[in-house]
Amino acid sequence: MTHNLHNSLINVPERKIIILDTTLRDGDQSPGMAFSAHEKLEIAILLERLGVDIIEAGFPASSRGEYNIVREITSQIKNSIISVMARSIPGDIEKAAGAIKDSVKKHLHLTMATSPIHRKYKLNKSKDEIIKMAADSVKFAKSFADSVEIGAEDSTRTEFNFLCEFCIAVTEAGADVVNISDTVGYSQPDEFFRLIKNLRKHVHAFGSGSAVISVHCHNDLGMATANTLSGILAGASQAETTLLGIGERAGNAAMEEVVTALNIRKNYYSVSTGIRSELFPEAARLISRVNAIRVHPCKPVVGSNVYSHSAGIHQHGMAMNDETYSIIKPAITSTSRFILSRHSGLKGLKEKIKQISGIELNDKDAKVIYSQFKKEADKKKSISSTDILKLLHNKGILKSSIWSIKKIYYFDVKSSEKHEFSVFLELINQDGMEKKANAVGMTKWEAIIKALKLAFHFDIKIIDFSSSLFADESALSERLHIETEFEGNIYADESFGSDSLVLFVESYLNIVNQIIVRYQFTDSV
Ligand code: MN
Repeated sequence: MTHNLHNSLINVPERKIIILDTTLRDGDQSPGMAFSAHEKLEIAILLERLGVDIIEAGFPASSRGEYNIVREITSQIKNSIISVMARSIPGDIEKAAGAIKDSVKKHLHLTMATSPIHRKYKLNKSKDEIIKMAADSVKFAKSFADSVEIGAEDSTRTEFNFLCEFCIAVTEAGADVVNISDTVGYSQPDEFFRLIKNLRKHVHAFGSGSAVISVHCHNDLGMATANTLSGILAGASQAETTLLGIGERAGNAAMEEVVTALNIRKNYYSVSTGIRSELFPEAARLISRVNAIRVHPCKPVVGSNVYSHSAGIHQHGMAMNDETYSIIKPAITSTSRFILSRHSGLKGLKEKIKQISGIELNDKDAKVIYSQFKKEADKKKSISSTDILKLLHNKGILKSSIWSIKKIYYFDVKSSEKHEFSVFLELINQDGMEKKANAVGMTKWEAIIKALKLAFHFDIKIIDFSSSLFADESALSERLHIETEFEGNIYADESFGSDSLVLFVESYLNIVNQIIVRYQFTDSV
């Protein structure tokens, strides 16, 4: 009976890989992270929208709070299957079962360590005792759930013969899924491939398809995604992932990496998933925000540098054909794909100008602008879109006048009753027109955003805003990233400097100036 739940997910013409996302369980165990109830619910709702087959919601026996959070998630999620983890002991299983009892589709995920080091130092149990506990737990859990999974913790450091014995015992006891875990990120892709292949050969239930192999890989040696893909290639039908690869220590296989590899290299893997990959940027922003961690710019699929090109040769290629130096199409259209620096060539500059202003320069104008750009680029680390638009206006190519900061200052008022920030902002354009705005807020950010909205009346929605500080003994520098949406288009900007408020306004103006030019707004906006 319980096999049907998984079989119904797999039995499609193209072999389908079930994604069990464990952001809310393994991800929640990342050092320094523990999601609040509200954050967990927000993430669960996004996971369901992403099309995750099984959402691992938590470890109910770990605390009363965790139990209640899982109950809340269960009441809100109707399409995805809810999984909870339990150790292979009756008390844990009962708590886990209680937490998901109202779920439409229930999945219990038991765990039992199998490697020699875990048997000896953690469990102090013999092989026979471990097999008996695991099989008994599976039988007990079956009465509470639609499907039961049991993980052999530290599978990759377990003797192969014992791992086979374990898999045979738990599948005979009724386990629908066996999780082969590279718990400490020890395995290498080729080795992991052979492990899964050999388990399918030696464990009848895997060969016949009456039980499913799941793979759960950690990233200690940077192999989590590679091992997961190797496991799938060897016949695993379920992959356990987290968003952004968060998780214990170096984390888990990242869902966005695994799914994108399966999509881009469909010719190689011949499998599909039900994941809506266009939601990855939104998912990355959410996880980044709730953890207050910045996504590394080079992080595959979702990093801010991934769709950007800086070298002149690459910009030239990309301007001609966007498959020359990139295999993944961005899920969103961002106007910041070319980063201009002294590495940029004429073709890259022309393309960037097209991206930020919609203007296609003729060769004569392009050469003039390019020589001025090169002079600026030798002086600065990177050239902003405002810098470029100013050059175009000065040459008479652009009518719209470009705004920059004339003066900005703020102070905070702190008393026993309140703490408020006041911002005064003065802007000037190249024709000498000025705008002044002042505003008050609970934070300096709230105040500055209010002031900018007073200065420019169009509806720019800030969808992502993060800053990272870097310090040495004598100085502090900051990298600021903002992403905004205006009329369905994404405008992103990144800046470096020492004063975050100034950086924010400069980035905002980079975006405002592009919008003014693109929509040919007049200066009275
Ligand atoms: Mn894990």
